[in-house]
Amino acid sequence: MSKPEIPSVAPANFLRQIVQSDLDAGKHAKIITRFPPEPNGYLHIGHAKAICVNFGLAKEFGGDCHLRFDDTNPAKEDQEYIDAIESDVKWLGFEWSGEVRYASNYFDQLYVWAIELIKAGKAYVDDLSPDQAREYRGNLTEPGKNSPFRERPVAESLDLFARMKAGEFADGARALRAKIDMAAPNMNLRDPILYRIRHAHHHQTGDKWCIYPSYDFTHGQSDAIEGITHSICTLEFEDHRPLYEWFLANLPVPAQPRQYEFARLNLNYTITSKRKLKQLVDEKHVSGWDDPRMSTLSGYRRRGYTPASIRTFCDMVGVNRAGGLVDIGMLEFAIREDLDASAARAMCVLKPLKVVITNYPEDQVENLELARHPKQDMGVRQLPFAREIYIDAGDFEEVAPAGYKRLVPGGEARLRGSYVIRADEAIKDAAGNIVELRCSYDPETLGKNPEGRKVKGVIHWVPAAASIECEVRLYDRLFRSAQPEKAEDGAGFLEDINPNSLQVLTGCRAEPSLGQALPEERFQFEREGYFCVDLKDSKPGQPVFNRTVTLRDSWGQ
Ligand code: ATP
Ligand code: MG
Repeated sequence: MSKPEIPSVAPANFLRQIVQSDLDAGKHAKIITRFPPEPNGYLHIGHAKAICVNFGLAKEFGGDCHLRFDDTNPAKEDQEYIDAIESDVKWLGFEWSGEVRYASNYFDQLYVWAIELIKAGKAYVDDLSPDQAREYRGNLTEPGKNSPFRERPVAESLDLFARMKAGEFADGARALRAKIDMAAPNMNLRDPILYRIRHAHHHQTGDKWCIYPSYDFTHGQSDAIEGITHSICTLEFEDHRPLYEWFLANLPVPAQPRQYEFARLNLNYTITSKRKLKQLVDEKHVSGWDDPRMSTLSGYRRRGYTPASIRTFCDMVGVNRAGGLVDIGMLEFAIREDLDASAARAMCVLKPLKVVITNYPEDQVENLELARHPKQDMGVRQLPFAREIYIDAGDFEEVAPAGYKRLVPGGEARLRGSYVIRADEAIKDAAGNIVELRCSYDPETLGKNPEGRKVKGVIHWVPAAASIECEVRLYDRLFRSAQPEKAEDGAGFLEDINPNSLQVLTGCRAEPSLGQALPEERFQFEREGYFCVDLKDSKPGQPVFNRTVTLRDSWGQ
């Protein structure tokens, strides 16, 4: 069995050292970080890492962490995503300081600053079309060329920018650009766009604006306005840092935040791109953003992952600049550890086979008591034992494979928390399927070993009459290959979908106490795995159980 590599010492977090030495040096009295999601999809496991890093540092060092929506692209954004993101951050166990913030809160200020740049000769309105601008930009080996509009008079740019804002021009007709250096080796400095024309309704600002600032022109200034001390992002923004600093140096901002980058979390067997996750939802490959197979936080939640297990996982991964692919076994390890300690034990028979215990009196019922947890004091549950019970169809074999320890014809096994039974006769239907098992029990074996013989196998069971019928959903990894994203873009990762990632079992039988289980309650079904009561589809007295994770890592065996 392949074991995930579990670090034995606290993994490195280079940001912790930076924050510590900034505080030691008296650079800041208190740190302020922020988590800046774009509300264009649900949060995924990669975002969980960014959340743990930002909120985690603030918590550890007594600082603040802001939640700020990076909402400069209204066409792709939606209130549904804003609500989901807020609820996921809270679910993960973090609280932002103050109100929820929006980059759009700063649109007025950004507009004023754009005008200041124009007046200072550091920005101009460009009339090149997006295609022409791309051509003029050059590439990694060739420098760009100056736009013919680069040297237009300040007054003309001011007039055109005002008219852009007034809605006189069509989308893409003009743009406001910073005047930096078209030959800069760093492409981000080749006169980057500050404002685009976009006649789009915005979820926060309504129809006030038809020009929207670019990400680069928004992010650092928003950080400065909020007094962010450490602006932590992922490595793809490293090349944007010089631009981030250029704006801070060239505008009268109230603070000088610093940007630090760390490596994105990449998990094998998992997609962490909002665009692709949205495609899975839009094309109905999954039931929604919260489908328990999705790598979204709402998916993990519905699947039965605890917030603590996800935080533990993020801690285990550590924070560094090196990147690499993390084994999903590590996430599964974290949830197994958590649930082993915290989930009540229960029995549920997934593929019921009726057993009649022929020597047990017909009208007799014994109320057995079983501990809800083997180690924690979680009380007991009642389990009535009667003449008719269910066991799992897989726990009886007429021809037993080598090493089989469960019931075989004439053989014995212990019913968990109850008696030893012997299989006497298998009843079959016309097609030869086993439909019932006749057994006998040894009355001397309740809580005792049988006399003069060893019974090795222990199987789970439920009483036939008192158990409840339920639906159980067995989830498996959504993708077959370790790097579904490596599959060619387009249909590639879709073709990698595991066709057996969801198996719905109906007619399962759960022990009576599970009739009271509440949505999101988690259990270890003995011998079957960890399960969670589905948040959406369960009804009072009729739980639907989602398998969170198997008991052991048996994937690919
Ligand atoms: P996606 O690529 O899924 O669209 P994104 O980076 O565009 O993600 P944002 O909403 O902009 O999504 O992300 C908010 C924050 O989360 C950013 O600071 C981003 O760096 C961080 N983040 C996103 N994905 C990951 C990841 N896989 N690992 C760590 N941090 C991430
Ligand atoms: Mg982004």
